Amino acid sequence: MQCPDCNGTGKTSLVHLNKGFNEEKGRCDGEWRESIPCMRCHGVGQVPDQMADWIAFGKDYRKRRQLNGETLYQAAKRLKLSVPELSAIENGKVNHALYL
Ligand SMILES: [Zn+2]
Repeated sequence: MQCPDCNGTGKTSLVHLNKGFNEEKGRCDGEWRESIPCMRCHGVGQVPDQMADWIAFGKDYRKRRQLNGETLYQAAKRLKLSVPELSAIENGKVNHALYL
């Protein structure tokens, strides 16, 4: 199916790449990039059809976790997952059935 994040273009819209705190300017520094390859489809514009289910599951999972007052970190620890793993599940970027 068409990637829901980039609508099939394979690219993100304008993004700001943060380069950290700049001592001279006294603020965080960075630069605007026209676009970068989409993080969900890796620039292809298409994702597996099953990803629609992963996205729906992840949204519901995140909602239930937040209603329980549990942070991402707390939930990841309880589930014996890393924070990036649980984040990927909640964002529907991976098949939750392989982790939960
Ligand atoms: Zn995409």
